[in-house]
Amino acid sequence: MHELSICRSISDIVVRHAAGRPVRIVHVRVGALRQIVPDTLVYCWSLVSADTALAGSQLCVDSVPAAIRCIPCEHVTTLSEPLICCSRCGGHDIEVVAGEEFLITSLDLAEV
Ligand SMILES: [Zn+2]
Repeated sequence: MHELSICRSISDIVVRHAAGRPVRIVHVRVGALRQIVPDTLVYCWSLVSADTALAGSQLCVDSVPAAIRCIPCEHVTTLSEPLICCSRCGGHDIEVVAGEEFLITSLDLAEV
């Protein structure tokens, strides 16, 4: 379960950024190609944060659908299914333009 190690990394970063201030919600953005299950990530967060300064904080996962750009025709296709070709010309000469994100987008801090 690599979600657990991901949560540990998020926790380290959040603790550093919060600098002692109480954190209520941690917003993360996860691309569909990362093969992370949002529900599992949230569950792991409750385990990882339990005995830390982040206990009681929520992880809010924003999933980003994968998208590819066709090199010859420049059309961008958002992938709703694992179909790696251009939806306009059917070409396979593509680059991934979305779906590999993994970042902490914001922290909601409690009033002190
Ligand atoms: Zn195309």
